[in-house]
Amino acid sequence: MAKDNHDHKHCQEWFEKLSEYIDGELDEFTCAEIEKHVKECLPCYVCLETLKRTIDLCKQTKNKRIPKAVSKKLQDLIQSYPKSTPV
Ligand SMILES: [Zn+2]
Repeated sequence: MAKDNHDHKHCQEWFEKLSEYIDGELDEFTCAEIEKHVKECLPCYVCLETLKRTIDLCKQTKNKRIPKAVSKKLQDLIQSYPKSTPV
């Protein structure tokens, strides 16, 4: 069960480690700590999932050559994204 007494000030520290965690740069102990934390902390969980998806996308686009039509579409998407999304 999730304990609601953890200090969200520490979440900032987790956020900084999340990208290293996804890249597999952290030791087993720290990985386990992060996995434990995201199970109990929804904001960190959402952040991790978002980061994973973003990194997956980056890897896909790095590994493959992007066809011009697709890169144009991506650019259009990126440019229209902030406007079409209410924040
Ligand atoms: Zn957290």
